[in-house]
Amino acid sequence: MSEKQLEKDQIALVTGASRGIGKAIAKALSRTGRFVYLNYNSNREKAENTLKEIINHGGRAQLLQFNVSSRKESEKAIKQIIKQKGQIDILVNNAGIRDDMLMVWMKQENWQNVLDINLTGFFNVTRLTVKHMLPKRFGRIVNISSASGQTGQAGQVNYSASKAGLIGGATKALAREVAKRDITVNAVAPGFIETDMTDDLKVKEITKTIPAGRLGKPEEVAAAIVFLCSKDAGYITGQVIGINGGIV
Ligand code: NAP
Repeated sequence: MSEKQLEKDQIALVTGASRGIGKAIAKALSRTGRFVYLNYNSNREKAENTLKEIINHGGRAQLLQFNVSSRKESEKAIKQIIKQKGQIDILVNNAGIRDDMLMVWMKQENWQNVLDINLTGFFNVTRLTVKHMLPKRFGRIVNISSASGQTGQAGQVNYSASKAGLIGGATKALAREVAKRDITVNAVAPGFIETDMTDDLKVKEITKTIPAGRLGKPEEVAAAIVFLCSKDAGYITGQVIGINGGIV
């Protein structure tokens, strides 16, 4: 079977696909012919826009609302995919938030909420997904970490901890557990990317610190993920790919 046909038969789930980087990833995966489940939490209108754009370009996709920080909701969603399609080949753990402040001002809830969505969300969605990938002897998992998880960032103790956790445990440890079954687990660590998440930042100031002299585009993150999900990337696992214009 040709690689193109193989990709057409694949089922992908992208968490946080209503906007920003997740939207670009979902669109890029759908352009390769894969069926893409578009997860979102609360922004149904934006999620519907993503779906419309994919359908208008001849792609196949379906909305799947759930909160990744809820284990019950996440596992129900994975079961729904398995019931409808019988498999799940690609998982992109992209859903994430930030809630920045200096640690001395940080309350337990500011810490917990970021960890619950960014890191426990990975566990909630991935555990059952991997269980279904193992007997199929194929899988591609990509976790969206961050440059903040590599270097640490003042004002982001909670966010940096969650994103570093995605690299160490979520990516490197799991990669070792499943490598023999042709399941790869990698992380991408974006720098500053133009999305709602960076909307409130002082772009002029930040740009001065980026060797490339500009913020990145969601599509530039998506391109790396499409490659990591390909058959050709089967020997790349447990790695972290920086997409950051040179800041790390
Ligand atoms: P964004 O524009 O704020 O979008 C966040 C996405 O995550 C939305 O689709 C949102 O859904 C979803 N989401 C949030 N909480 C959720 C939950 N509890 N359950 C399910 N979905 C949830 O963010 P982005 O910039 O595209 O960021 C995407 C990922 O890249 C995040 O993990 C972020 O940490 C990481 N990242 C971003 C940058 C950057 O510069 N932008 C840099 C490094 C890493 P709703 O629309 O329904 O709220």
